[in-house]
Amino acid sequence: MANYDAIVIGGGHNGLTAAALLAQAGRRVVVVEKNDAVGGLAMAEEFHPGYRTAGLLHDTGGARLKLIEKLNLPSRGLQTTGKRAPVTLLSDDGRAITLQADAEASARSIEKISAKDAQAYRQYRALVDTIGPWLGKLFSEPQPSLPSPGPGEMLRLLGSGLGLRRMGRKTMQEFLKIVPMCLADFLDEYFETDFLKAGLAVPALLSSFNGPWSSFTTFNLLLWEATSTDQVKGGPAALAAALEKAAQSHGVEIRTGAEVTSLMLSDSGAVQGARLVSGEQIEAPLAAAACTPKEVFLNLLKSRDVGPKLETAITHLRCRGVTAKVNLALNQKIQWKAETEHPVEFARTGNTIDEIERAFDAVKYRRFSETPVLDIFVPTVSNSDLAPEGHEVVSILAQFAPYDREGGWTDAAREDFADRVVARLAEHTIDLESSIVARHVSTPKDLEAQFNLTGGHLFHAEHALDQLLGRPVHACAGYKTPIPGLYLCGSGSHPGGGITCAPGALAAGAILSK
Ligand SMILES: Cc1cc2nc3c(=O)[nH]c(=O)nc-3n(C[C@H](O)[C@H](O)[C@H](O)COP(=O)(O)OP(=O)(O)OC[C@H]3O[C@@H](n4cnc5c(N)ncnc54)[C@H](O)[C@@H]3O)c2cc1C
Repeated sequence: MANYDAIVIGGGHNGLTAAALLAQAGRRVVVVEKNDAVGGLAMAEEFHPGYRTAGLLHDTGGARLKLIEKLNLPSRGLQTTGKRAPVTLLSDDGRAITLQADAEASARSIEKISAKDAQAYRQYRALVDTIGPWLGKLFSEPQPSLPSPGPGEMLRLLGSGLGLRRMGRKTMQEFLKIVPMCLADFLDEYFETDFLKAGLAVPALLSSFNGPWSSFTTFNLLLWEATSTDQVKGGPAALAAALEKAAQSHGVEIRTGAEVTSLMLSDSGAVQGARLVSGEQIEAPLAAAACTPKEVFLNLLKSRDVGPKLETAITHLRCRGVTAKVNLALNQKIQWKAETEHPVEFARTGNTIDEIERAFDAVKYRRFSETPVLDIFVPTVSNSDLAPEGHEVVSILAQFAPYDREGGWTDAAREDFADRVVARLAEHTIDLESSIVARHVSTPKDLEAQFNLTGGHLFHAEHALDQLLGRPVHACAGYKTPIPGLYLCGSGSHPGGGITCAPGALAAGAILSK
């Protein structure tokens, strides 16, 4: 008899969530993780001696609070801030706007630049606050099987339709009108200030092979607004640590430095276990894969076991990474040129929508942007332990940097891109270059090598409408795959990427209900 009921492949935050919930329900679970520590993309990194980030990623606002409670994470020391973090939008001419959880406080900040935009922002927030709970619920629950919904799913579909209807005719019409729109047109309908439009667009384009003039990008903005709530204190790494503790407290065995090289199937094609890079075989009748769908079906299984139809669908899944991560270690506190109302913890650059579109243009031709768009996080603002006293860590998501750069990601290309990122940040700060002690760059290629992150895509697969509905492909949309005993539980599954814990939790629910 196998020692385990389930193997979870990948110890990212979704793998840990799935493992903890399965073990909480009495299953014997082992997590096997390629890297020497769990956490996946939420893992803390010491990128230079004495300087650490709170995780590769920045924003923990998407973490589903109900799941955090279900796993008893608060009793394991996890705390949330109780509100969305303020973010500062920076313009090259020294102006700044601070957007906050409180719409009125944000409007007051905008009012200093444009009274018209302050009023428009109130209307924008009223719209997203009306649609948000409905959309957030859709992206926190299992998605109904659209090709063949069962009775329970039909009820949920009906409930969703009614939920939209209940928002009132005007909101419903507006929602249906704006979903297919590009960000440029949508934001133009509301605002006149260019850097406000650019700053609002940035999170909707994170890791996206889209520019603000691409269709359906407004949907991504609505989705981000709908699912962005409290931040986790201590950042992604704190969440990963609490999940690890929760999993272990329920008896999950965690094995690190244990890359799975193939899944073992029986003669009838059902999961029997997993083979590790060391040659060791772990037996279990069920595998939940938290790595990318392409890693599962194109690397861990043989083509003949996957079958041509599924293999073709998975091959066509788009996951072209466009985001690089740049960490800076500074020997002093960062000094912003703009006068800001709060210490700047989160900031975004971008003067105009067209500047972002031009930055995106580059990746279509396999080049990186000459003027990258920066999503900036200064984790030392709320956690001074991450650097020596008085020093700073700056963590930057820089777009656009193509996975398949023409000429490859040579050391020179990596440094060239980092130079552009630093130059861009220097335009908004004082004495930046002279205060840099060290910098560390991870391109999409580097992220792929470290985490088997196919294409270096932050969300395991592009957040495009066609890849959000029936995610990742219809045959595996309910976490169960056509291979008996194989389930998906990572960001490549509904409701998608980001630090949410949702795919892991929903997959565990699907496994336990079978
Ligand atoms: C640089 C960066 C910044 C980001 N910023 C944000 C942000 O600000 N906000 C946000 O919400 N989201 C952000 N994201 C996206 C978010 O981090 C991911 O969508 C999410 O964390 C993925 O979690 P996961 O558990 O599904 O998968 P992962 O964290 O990718 O975990 C998968 C794990 O599987 C392991 N693995 C893969 N293959 C194997 C194998 N064969 N055998 C064993 N182990 C294997 C990997 O090593 C990894 O640990 C960012 C991502 C990156 C890379």
